[in-house]
Amino acid sequence: MKICQKCIMDDQNDNYIHFDNQGTCNYCKDFEDKKKLYTFTNEQVKSNLEKLKKKILNLKSGEYDLITGISGGVDSSYLLHLIKQLNLNPLIIHFDNGWNSELAVTNIKNLLDKTKFDYITEVIDWNEFKSLQRSFLKASVVDIELLTDHAITATLYKYAKKYKIRTIFSGGNFATEQGMPKDWSWQKSDLINIRDINKKFENIEMNTFPTFDTFNAIIEMFKAKFKLGDWYQKIEPLNLINYKKNDAINVLNKEYNWVYYGEKHYESTFTEFYQAYILYKKFKIDKRKPHNSSLIRNGEISREDALEKTKLPPYKTNEIERKKIDYFLKKIEMTNNEFQKILSDAPKKHLDYRNDYFIFQLLQFYRKYLNPKNVIKKIWKRF
Ligand SMILES: [Zn+2]
Repeated sequence: MKICQKCIMDDQNDNYIHFDNQGTCNYCKDFEDKKKLYTFTNEQVKSNLEKLKKKILNLKSGEYDLITGISGGVDSSYLLHLIKQLNLNPLIIHFDNGWNSELAVTNIKNLLDKTKFDYITEVIDWNEFKSLQRSFLKASVVDIELLTDHAITATLYKYAKKYKIRTIFSGGNFATEQGMPKDWSWQKSDLINIRDINKKFENIEMNTFPTFDTFNAIIEMFKAKFKLGDWYQKIEPLNLINYKKNDAINVLNKEYNWVYYGEKHYESTFTEFYQAYILYKKFKIDKRKPHNSSLIRNGEISREDALEKTKLPPYKTNEIERKKIDYFLKKIEMTNNEFQKILSDAPKKHLDYRNDYFIFQLLQFYRKYLNPKNVIKKIWKRF
């Protein structure tokens, strides 16, 4: 096994990693290449935010200035804090897929109580969602979170249209999310993949699951570009402020009594089990490596600390592991035998099922070659 000398990424289960002569990986190199586009002086941050606010207010067409989702995790929570600081009037959507941790629920409540923002909790039909998650487990594909991510995006689009909101804020950010191996996830807009996997394994009626598709995403992109009809644009404000995860946690804790839940995305009990057990055991993928590698590159943690943190398996004792498995199986309604079979089945590719990869590639081609290459130019061009 080869491991990067700067971060903790290695060549296990990653077809895209490569190393230079000094033993530095391509993710570290990519970070260095792009870093300057996301690094600002204090004055620049101030001006970025002023410009952002002005542009949003100029574009505003309904009651709300913008719409955004909250999961109770660090990034989306800090985004709410930033919106409050900017004195904007957002509509907040919380998507409840049945797997919220208690901590996430308390964090969200504390944030909404203090910011007094308007919010909608979109509760998904639990039986339908549970069946779809079981289908994805049985299909042995890597990106089971695709279902939640797909539904959240579809829900944001739905309410953006309903309330004539032009701006969608996303907590996505370069600082703490760059460098995720490409084949550890699948494109979130692939509704054909969702439908096919459902059909093959549980075959339920998808009556309430919120959907959109890649073709639809392309249409929306063009509508936004030419400002046609009920267009909206997506903005990632955390890319404008020298975002640091640890600073965000401190601010949230101080201002909102917000409590951290341990690892990235563990605000959802499903995501926790998926990352800490299913990905780790079945797919031999340890997401703590890219997450902690990001923090090393962002200057928030030392390489030694990251290595120490990832030395033991995510569930450190058999007792914890057993408890987590029991909870998961009871909730998703699956027997231990069924689950053991899923764990021992060989992983499959999303491409082994019907998919819309071809349309997605066209979209990628557009983004890569027909859009300005300079990322910052690209961000500001949308204003
Ligand atoms: Zn590296």
